[in-house]
Amino acid sequence: MIVAMQEVATEEQIDAVIDAMVEAGVGVHRTTGASQTILAGVGPTAAVDLSKFENLPGVLHVHRISSPYKLAGRGFRPEGTVVEFRNGVKVGGQQVVVMAGPCSVENKAQIFETAARVKAAGGSFLRGGAFKPRSSPYAFQGMGIPGLELMREAADEHGLLTVSEVMEIAQIETMLPLVDLFQVGARNMQNFNLLRELGQVRKPVMLKRGMAATIEELLLSSEYVLSGGNYDVILCERGIRTYETATRNTMDISAIPVVKKLSHLPIVGDPSHGTGHRDMVAPMARATVAAGADAVIVEVHPNADKAASDAAQTLYPDQFDRLMESLRVIAAAVGRTL
Ligand code: PEP
Ligand code: MN
Repeated sequence: MIVAMQEVATEEQIDAVIDAMVEAGVGVHRTTGASQTILAGVGPTAAVDLSKFENLPGVLHVHRISSPYKLAGRGFRPEGTVVEFRNGVKVGGQQVVVMAGPCSVENKAQIFETAARVKAAGGSFLRGGAFKPRSSPYAFQGMGIPGLELMREAADEHGLLTVSEVMEIAQIETMLPLVDLFQVGARNMQNFNLLRELGQVRKPVMLKRGMAATIEELLLSSEYVLSGGNYDVILCERGIRTYETATRNTMDISAIPVVKKLSHLPIVGDPSHGTGHRDMVAPMARATVAAGADAVIVEVHPNADKAASDAAQTLYPDQFDRLMESLRVIAAAVGRTL
């Protein structure tokens, strides 16, 4: 259930409604927007008599949430979620944010050189996998914690934030000081134990769409994190598996406006995994920004063809520079900055 408070509602009135909801046996999640406070009640709400809440002082309206996801739905935060990072970078605001870096952290020179180029081109996040979910157990599995430490150093030297994939619960604690944004990969989108645990941390999470997941399943997965009280969740469209073989995945651009309509969570486009081909990354990155994405994540490597993973879809730094220039034009065309 959603209880929307009046703009003029006092803290005492809000507290009284929260108490009444708790008394009715529902869990309460509160969001305080610029103009209005919304209280979402989750749990056994079917038996709750909503009219009882309508008459409480300060209440504007009460309604049941018809979607299966309760906290990820637009109704919880009609104005949209803006995830703010420690250096002031915001995902979900007016500015389109760019995250870039290699698929995998490989060595010091690689990650430092990439960080310098990403920063110089106007990126905000350095990406790089240290724990890699590879289709083959014989493929490079990532550098692990030493790789994350190198990435942290490189990012700090250039004033960038870091985003990296967490694959299991046991990695969360060691990763906490090393990443600014936890990435949950497509293969783990429905690792519900991992999602629940990330609901307990107070650091943003980027949840990638599973390669065979519907948008509703993506939103339900985000609900696992949100229901733990971690409201800083960012979604990512990275392509889904279809019958098409010309691309690695089929980049579902329409997922961006669909998510914008259904949810308040910011959404990122990943045209690298979405296409699998270097020459298709820029056009699809432009398409994601045109479609309303809040951020773009791309793979960039100083020696792209020699990358230890995902070489075919990785941009050379010069290509990334040109992409950034064109993204600025597209962002301006849709009323945003980059
Ligand atoms: C990655 O970002 O390198 C990655 C493995 O992504 P995905 O989970 O979308 O395949
Ligand atoms: Mn990759």
